[in-house]
Amino acid sequence: MGTLPKNDSLPTLMAKPERNIFAVYRDGNHRDNNWIVHAVRISVRVGIVFALWFTRSPHYQVLAAYMVLSEVIDQLAMLAVRQKESLRKWVGYIYVVNSVAAISVVGYFADWLLNDYFLVYLIHVSSATMGFGIGVGLVSFITSMLVYGAMLLGIHAPLITFLRIPIMAIIVLRIVVSQGRYEKAGEMIKNILDIEQAKKDFIAIASHNLRTPVAAIYGYIEVLLRGDAGTLNDQQKIYIQRIQSNNQELEKLTEQLLQVSILEVGREINLMKQPTQIEMLIQDEVNKLIPLAETKSLRLTFNKSRGLLPLVSIDVEKIKSVLSNLIDNAIKYTEKGNITVTARQEDGFIVVSVSDMGIGIAEEDLPKIFTKFYRSGNILVYNKVGIGLGLYLGRQIIELHGGKMTVESRSGQGSVFEFTLPILKEDILK
Ligand code: ADP
Repeated sequence: MGTLPKNDSLPTLMAKPERNIFAVYRDGNHRDNNWIVHAVRISVRVGIVFALWFTRSPHYQVLAAYMVLSEVIDQLAMLAVRQKESLRKWVGYIYVVNSVAAISVVGYFADWLLNDYFLVYLIHVSSATMGFGIGVGLVSFITSMLVYGAMLLGIHAPLITFLRIPIMAIIVLRIVVSQGRYEKAGEMIKNILDIEQAKKDFIAIASHNLRTPVAAIYGYIEVLLRGDAGTLNDQQKIYIQRIQSNNQELEKLTEQLLQVSILEVGREINLMKQPTQIEMLIQDEVNKLIPLAETKSLRLTFNKSRGLLPLVSIDVEKIKSVLSNLIDNAIKYTEKGNITVTARQEDGFIVVSVSDMGIGIAEEDLPKIFTKFYRSGNILVYNKVGIGLGLYLGRQIIELHGGKMTVESRSGQGSVFEFTLPILKEDILK
């Protein structure tokens, strides 16, 4: 799911107004369709009716009258479907029988040419197939064929004329096949949208409901560590601290899910910006994560630039979470060597970079790395905790600040993640 195109996601595609002329038949619903479609459709019909009328041939004039009649039948059928969608199939069958009867009666009395029958049936069967589904289309086809075949027999038509039946069958079958594909694709899209919706609902519900127990666990840990429930021995303290650090991980995941659920419903993550000296923030985060790096004998350092960097206007907590995720990843995906964080000024931006000497990222994975729930296929990655949301959210948060997040990496040769933040305007002017 994470690989769906971001700006042209399925719901957006579905929401685009339908300009297909057949959509009017297919959907049986005028309200949702573009007025241009109706205008074109009505103009084409009126044009054909006039053209037929002015031939002055009684055959074609009755054909013109039939077209007006069939329009009325169409409209009534669509009106009925619009009132009650569940009636679609039955309305379709009535539409078929009615139309075949109308074509036959009108054609018989007007002494239509066989060619006219042929053409009208074809148009009628196609629209029945497209408007009411394959089932109705097939019924329409069989009834039409029986009537048409009976007519040919009735007038002792030459054998060659019967060739029209298989020709018509081929044409109709092609329409039926594409209608089948259309219906199947529609169903698939609906299923995908349902799954997407279920996923969004699940994320929203799960993240909200996880927050409370996570907070409660913190509360009880504090009570225990304070000794309110009796003095703890060293072993017990170690276990409680482990529960605490696991709870922190759980809290991080919960927060990530919550932020994703906010983005999913099209809302922006709220930023509480304030002018900030980024070096302090970086130093704090680095200091916090040095103990974790040391557990893997990694050297984590912050290379400060010479002189103080200009201020940036940022949501401190959000940028902290972005940076801490980058450093945390660097530690997670590095087995030995150094992790270096730097910050510099460049073209009106502060550029923060986190480089490691770890497993790196394969070239084919690089474009997907910032996608929601994406985790690299590298086998080493599966041993690490994570759900593939850190970089996705990180990039969103940086972009909300007016910056960019990029990565350079090679498999087995470490990675460099960089993000930029615009320098506060007043500081540029100084
Ligand atoms: P998580 O780490 O929770 O899986 P992220 O969104 O932070 O989620 O990262 C997504 C994926 O990007 C990771 O699963 C990993 O495959 C890859 N990745 C991120 N940072 C690094 C890194 N420093 N080195 C190698 N791979 C990385």
